[in-house]
Amino acid sequence: MTANIRYKSRIPVKTEDSTEEKQYVGFATLPNQVHRKSVKKGFDFTLMVAGESGMGKSTLVNSLFLTDLYKDRKLLNAEERINQTVEIIKHTVDIEEKGVKLKLTIVDTPGFGDAVNNNECWKPITDYIDQQFEQYFRDESGLNRKNIQDNRVHCCLYFIPPFGHGLRPVDVEFMKALHEKVNIIPLIAKADCLTPNEIKKLKDRIREEIDKFGIKVYQFPECDSDEDEEFKQLDKELKECTPFAVIGSNTVVEARGQRVRGRLYPWGIVEVENQSHCDFVKLRNMLIRSHMHDLKDVTCDVHYENYRAQCIQEMTRSESVRGEVVQKILPVWYLKKESKCTECQEIYAGLNFTLVIP
Ligand code: GDP
Repeated sequence: MTANIRYKSRIPVKTEDSTEEKQYVGFATLPNQVHRKSVKKGFDFTLMVAGESGMGKSTLVNSLFLTDLYKDRKLLNAEERINQTVEIIKHTVDIEEKGVKLKLTIVDTPGFGDAVNNNECWKPITDYIDQQFEQYFRDESGLNRKNIQDNRVHCCLYFIPPFGHGLRPVDVEFMKALHEKVNIIPLIAKADCLTPNEIKKLKDRIREEIDKFGIKVYQFPECDSDEDEEFKQLDKELKECTPFAVIGSNTVVEARGQRVRGRLYPWGIVEVENQSHCDFVKLRNMLIRSHMHDLKDVTCDVHYENYRAQCIQEMTRSESVRGEVVQKILPVWYLKKESKCTECQEIYAGLNFTLVIP
């Protein structure tokens, strides 16, 4: 039985006639307490980048976070790439902005789609994501749950080449293999290779194919009805502009009397942060300013929850099979032990656990 007790504030007040202050308990400061605690603790975010080599992944990541995460990268030649398997490389960097600390982990997947035979080249990537879920599941079920390190992948930026006419089979296979494990955000790489018309056509095509193949990319949450009109408009624009057509650059050039991050060509300058040139700013705002928390929430509440439910289901199933074996088969096996009952032995072999016979 529960009882709901409503307290009225009895804290000392400064002025006699201030009824507002009399009724002030103080729980209005709760958001401030949460804010202070979170800032103290710091934030973490794990971003995976995937796509063929040379698609501009490292340049884009550097442009997004204004860091040089790839200082020690070794580029392979064509011969080395022929039989290259997909590697998983983690780069971690601590960034601080206005006193807020962010531990950013970039999970790079060099070698993806680079070999002659790309059959199942996404397997090491799905395995990696599962391993992080498994580690988290173990830590969470362990005794010391206080300082669990969360290495789960919160988002995967998937780079689609700008040169084709939509998705390639490898893109479809990759996204289908990962869409239930991670938030996929598809990007059109090196968008400066395309005219605005071509970008529009390619975006429409990719969106159509994503629907056609039943690929579940990250869905932006619905905007609350009480949000202001400007916010609703921005949200609408964001949703309409996917897949984001991006441009990256590690150099700063002079354009219209200003120093900007861009690419200098004989015919002009492409500005990374100019919204009429590409969707870089929209992507950055979405990823960092508006949806980072939602990406983490969806990872935790949907993808990890699915993994966890599956694990628990398998554990209960194998437990009940074991129980059944012990109850039903063990006595029979005992009786037939001498005659080496192969039927029972086969069942045990298939159960993948060691049976200790006293
Ligand atoms: P990664 O192997 O996918 O990490 O690709 P990199 O970031 O190393 O880029 C490969 C090459 O593409 C480099 O010469 C970059 O300067 C160039 N590059 C990167 N981003 C862009 C872009 O947006 N447009 C164009 N045209 N080239 C780019």
